[in-house]
Amino acid sequence: MLIVANWKAYVDTKEKAKKLFATAKRLSGKVDIVLAMPYPYIGMCAGGPKTKVALAAQDVSISTGGATTGEVTAGLLAELGARYVIIGHSERRAMGETDELIFEKVQRALAHNLIPILCVGERERDMDAQYLSGIRAQLAAVFSHLSQKERLSMIVAYEPIWAIGKTAADSIQSVELEEMILYIRKVLSDYLPGKSAQKVPILYGGSIEPSNARALAGGSGVDGFLVGHASVDAPTFTALVKAVS
Ligand code: PGA
Repeated sequence: MLIVANWKAYVDTKEKAKKLFATAKRLSGKVDIVLAMPYPYIGMCAGGPKTKVALAAQDVSISTGGATTGEVTAGLLAELGARYVIIGHSERRAMGETDELIFEKVQRALAHNLIPILCVGERERDMDAQYLSGIRAQLAAVFSHLSQKERLSMIVAYEPIWAIGKTAADSIQSVELEEMILYIRKVLSDYLPGKSAQKVPILYGGSIEPSNARALAGGSGVDGFLVGHASVDAPTFTALVKAVS
């Protein structure tokens, strides 16, 4: 099970970041843990002794360097010690990121051997399931342009916007998640023939908390979770990891 902690901009002191990093180090081994942190903490956390906790950025620039004020390149993230990068999170799509831009970001990440965690998800669910074609389009916008090898380097995170930032009670149900995982695998099989579509890890994100994590992990076919608010409080994150391990 892979747990990606998406700290968003919740963690705003070095002390808090260090405490959460230490908690993750204690918990690693129970599950695979990736901490997706604001850029400045990446250098800080990667600098210490080697650990099993992997680091991720929450975004990456399409800049390849040079005169692009304020941008953080994939090359720099890799050099600092990040191994993963979240791309296309709905909170960034809401700021204007398009599928085209997201694909460019994926390309930059792959060029520097960063593993993209591509977020897809619908704003709401309509009765006649039109939202499924929206998810297909978000996946196609990236997967259709990649080589087989690149496709197999991807992680997909299904993050329905209606479930993000709420509570476990408002989150997705196990059966709904199971259906969605099957649907995403079916879409991926258009790009990855045979059994290889099974090799792309699919995560779920949207109000994962200690109380719903175990039920959603069991039987839905999900490979892990992208955890927002429940990842930035050490006791809550500990309870969540213990619930799924
Ligand atoms: P949440 O966020 O767990 O706070 O709902 C998840 C995400 O947006 O990645």
